[in-house]
Amino acid sequence: MPQLGFGVWQVPDDEAHRSVSTAIEAGYRSIDTARIYDNEKGTGRAIAESGVAREDIFLTTKLWNDDQGHDNALRAFDASLERLGTDYVDLYLIHWPTPARDTYVETWKALERIHGEGRAKAIGVSNFTAATLERLVGEADVVPVINQIELHPYFSQSGMRAANAAHGLLTEAWSPLGQGKGLLEDPVLVELGARHGKSAAQVVLRWHLQLGNVVIPKSVTPARIRENFDVFDFELTAEDMDRIGSLDRDGRIGPDPAGVN
Ligand code: NAD
Repeated sequence: MPQLGFGVWQVPDDEAHRSVSTAIEAGYRSIDTARIYDNEKGTGRAIAESGVAREDIFLTTKLWNDDQGHDNALRAFDASLERLGTDYVDLYLIHWPTPARDTYVETWKALERIHGEGRAKAIGVSNFTAATLERLVGEADVVPVINQIELHPYFSQSGMRAANAAHGLLTEAWSPLGQGKGLLEDPVLVELGARHGKSAAQVVLRWHLQLGNVVIPKSVTPARIRENFDVFDFELTAEDMDRIGSLDRDGRIGPDPAGVN
């Protein structure tokens, strides 16, 4: 899985087609969508028309909450594949654990079956907490490869990163740029950007890569799509990494997964 990919949350289907096309042209080879984003069709079409072989693209989609349950999940997966216009995904994720439904273990069994059939090359989870991850791993035959969680310098999730690593999962950062807003004006990030001849966004993405996170920034602006991929020609020092690490302030943007159902 490429460590740097491209996300399309909140991007309407047509625009997803345009921005995924731009991203693939810019060099991205990993694309992150979900049933609930309502843009699997445009995303799949952009991949098919890109001129890049399907096997050279790493495609992720996710199972929405109301599709949980063993048989529901099998049906939802088929529907996602059809919208994506492909016969496999590289990674299929349970989008949220939704602990009050208490269906994530039986849902996982469906993902294990899909994985066994080779229709999802890898399976994983998103927004799993330490408690839900612990239970899932205890009951799983196939351990999830990755946990995609909210993670950015204002919410750096050292506890969940450690919990993922303890179970052998990669950590993938969603909203890696903190959705752009206040984070990218942070004086520390702006200063580090000026020192390295890079933007604050590039500094944040570099921080993720050096921490070992998989990262999937989103943009619909072609110049920013390219800018966010141009992060492989500089390196943050240990001191830079510490300064960014010290920005952590419990700045969660999205909901607490324990309460999502
Ligand atoms: P993000 O942190 O990637 O921020 C995107 C926003 O930042 C853009 O809309 C734009 O306003 C700004 N931006 C992007 N590049 C910039 C640049 N170079 N300079 C200045 N501003 C810039 O936010 P996101 O879209 O929430 O997260 C990324 C991806 O993570 C999503 O598209 C989706 O694929 C995934 N995601 C998953 C979940 C989940 O529950 N699993 C939740 C949210 C997002």
